[in-house]
Amino acid sequence: MTNPKKNSIHADITARLQAASQPLLLSHIRPDGDALASLVGMGLALQAAGKSCQLVLSDGVPSKFRFLSWSEQIRTQIQPGYDLIVALDCSDRQRLGSSFSDLPIDINIDHHITNEHFAALNLVLPQSAATAAILAQFLPLWGFPLDAQSSNALLMGILTDTIGFRTSNVSAHTLRQAARLLENGAHLSDLYERALVNQSFASCRLWGLALNRLQKKGCLAWTSITLQDRKQAGYSGRDDADLTNVLSAIENIDISLLFNEQKDRTIKVSWRSGAEMDVSKISQRFGGGGHPPAAGAEISGSLEEVEEMVLKATSEYVQEKKAQGENEHGK
Ligand code: 5GP
Ligand code: MN
Repeated sequence: MTNPKKNSIHADITARLQAASQPLLLSHIRPDGDALASLVGMGLALQAAGKSCQLVLSDGVPSKFRFLSWSEQIRTQIQPGYDLIVALDCSDRQRLGSSFSDLPIDINIDHHITNEHFAALNLVLPQSAATAAILAQFLPLWGFPLDAQSSNALLMGILTDTIGFRTSNVSAHTLRQAARLLENGAHLSDLYERALVNQSFASCRLWGLALNRLQKKGCLAWTSITLQDRKQAGYSGRDDADLTNVLSAIENIDISLLFNEQKDRTIKVSWRSGAEMDVSKISQRFGGGGHPPAAGAEISGSLEEVEEMVLKATSEYVQEKKAQGENEHGK
């Protein structure tokens, strides 16, 4: 395990955090559980050390995560008066949201392999299961102990990013960190129920409409969420209502994709894959990013255009990858 005292990035982060009195914490647009949990978990730990924190998400808190205590502290606008800016779980500046993408970021803490190291200090650990896991490990070592509330928030981040500890990056280390958070007073079964299992009636209706158009060709499976579906289902969010998690459960496919139509003639694409494929590579071709088994991009165009272009590139990638595998076996 890293010894933060010997490692200059940790010494630098500790010094900056200790010196700040009004830190501003930011994370990515269309926030997921890890983005939100990292903000709340770190915010609570800094607040307990006497700092006055601002927590800002340009898209606000998705309704399904509003049960998390202290999430009501999160604002969508920045107030003047901060003396340190920390970006959490965010792989590039644009993902902070268009109004925040030019801010001078002091500290960038993330686990995306595609992170662009855009801050003065960058702690990017792609082997970590979640940004919340990085914070669970290092906040106490930087001098910010975790109490029951911050531990609960951080456990939610680990739980949601690993879809209930089932992604391939979950290790014994991840489970030990989760165990430590439980010892601190986090509530695993409650979080599991509220953050992963529970779905609103509108989400389930949205799944139904989208799954009705589920398609499969070769080892790819995909569907879309249209603006019309959202209206018909009464679903107000612009996220995927966790449908990508459902698609990732389909057997005997290499990659599942979701095309999520947005208002401004852009399509949010999500890829999910098993251990053989690295979908972050495909997403980067379209200006996106993510992890080898889970990645996304926002692409301009109509649903039909984007579907055609992305399915072609994805199936070419699968063919190349399989041909490479066969060559290596043949050697
Ligand atoms: P999702 O498909 O659930 O939106 O995202 C899957 C993963 O890819 C997450 O780790 C997310 O942060 C990342 N991701 C999703 N969309 C984008 C994007 O447009 N740009 C970048 N850089 N990363 C993305
Ligand atoms: Mn994450």
